[in-house]
Amino acid sequence: MRRSKTFLLGFFLTVCVPSYAGCIHFINGHWFNGRAFPQDDFYSDSGVLTHTPCHQSLQIDLKGGYVVPPYGDAHEHNFDNLQRAQAQGKLYLQDGVFYAQGMTDVSTGAEAVKQAKRVNTPSTVDATYAHGGLTGYNGHPKEVYESIPLGFFYPVTAEQKDKVVHATSRSGLAYWEMETPAELDQLWPRILASHPDLIKVYLVNSEEWKAASSSDTRLGLGLNPALVPLITTKAHAAGLKVAAHVDTATDAAIAIRGGVDELGHLPGYGLSAKGNPTTVRLPDELIQEAEQRHVKVQATAGIDVDEHTSAADLKARQASQIDNLTRLKKAHVPILIGSDHYGQDSVHEMDYLHSLGVWTNLELLKMACVTTPQAIFPKRKLGELRPGYEASFLVLSSNPLTDWQHTHAIIDRWKQGEHIVIEDQP
Ligand SMILES: [Zn+2]
Repeated sequence: MRRSKTFLLGFFLTVCVPSYAGCIHFINGHWFNGRAFPQDDFYSDSGVLTHTPCHQSLQIDLKGGYVVPPYGDAHEHNFDNLQRAQAQGKLYLQDGVFYAQGMTDVSTGAEAVKQAKRVNTPSTVDATYAHGGLTGYNGHPKEVYESIPLGFFYPVTAEQKDKVVHATSRSGLAYWEMETPAELDQLWPRILASHPDLIKVYLVNSEEWKAASSSDTRLGLGLNPALVPLITTKAHAAGLKVAAHVDTATDAAIAIRGGVDELGHLPGYGLSAKGNPTTVRLPDELIQEAEQRHVKVQATAGIDVDEHTSAADLKARQASQIDNLTRLKKAHVPILIGSDHYGQDSVHEMDYLHSLGVWTNLELLKMACVTTPQAIFPKRKLGELRPGYEASFLVLSSNPLTDWQHTHAIIDRWKQGEHIVIEDQP
């Protein structure tokens, strides 16, 4: 329900940004300090927070509102289409999600969105891009990205599958197919030349992976597991982090031990009541290893859980999610909020994770507005409300620590010292 409602809203909203160059004095706000909301005053000087008064400042009364850093979406595929980017951006800003991590995109579409300044300006969402994902021959996500230009969403018939196997229109843009270290070496300069912000690798049921994927016409498999440590070494040398699509606990083990920085999913998001939960249960020792290696986990737990999910499947899936997430939390492995829903932002995921009951409101709020934004932009001073940090924040009407739904009661938005006003078009 929420999906269609918010998506529609995006088409009727407009973003206008009154310019307040210089200094703004924010009074009468309760500012989140990572633990509570003490009353405080802040100035924004040239888009940066300070406690130092500056001359001729414009005064803004926050009217007792609760101020939090903007939210993040660590797993999206939404900002690589110029036609959709504006409406998509408005939806994100409306929901207070200012930071987005593109976990595979069509790189030419992403470049067009960047060139048109639909992202990465003070008045828009800030997005990073993995561009083409690294996978095996005919591997995931080729079947998704080649279907759309062929006129269908997903290959179902034998004819459609055959068309996708032979399609190459998004090769080198949305995915890179490889199997051997020599092929990785050959493609690597082209991958770097596409200027990704991070590298995405795809691991799919790695326990069943077999060599000679180049002659395998099955769709949706993943990367040769032996390539993972080679890729992470190359990526880290280039200053890029690596995030891995994983389906099973074996995929997660290969990713973590292969040196990836983030898991793109929690294993088991597609688990059914008939499935074997042990294949997606992260062993305790692997969780310990993830913590020691500073691996972060994008939960993406809300995907595949909707009104079409049967009660039995929902029960199995949530039991697996709660089991893995509870033990990850206990081991202090950071969990990131990521939606992985086309056309949606991460608000649904925030609420879904809240419904699992694993975290307090404070813990979940920090995941949404501190941990996730800082994981997306580790080099920027954002995600905290203190001097020297970007003057980007949401003003909530009430305290989100007492009622989680208050995280959505956004009455004002500021980004890098600019006022983001979203209103109905006349
Ligand atoms: Zn995804």
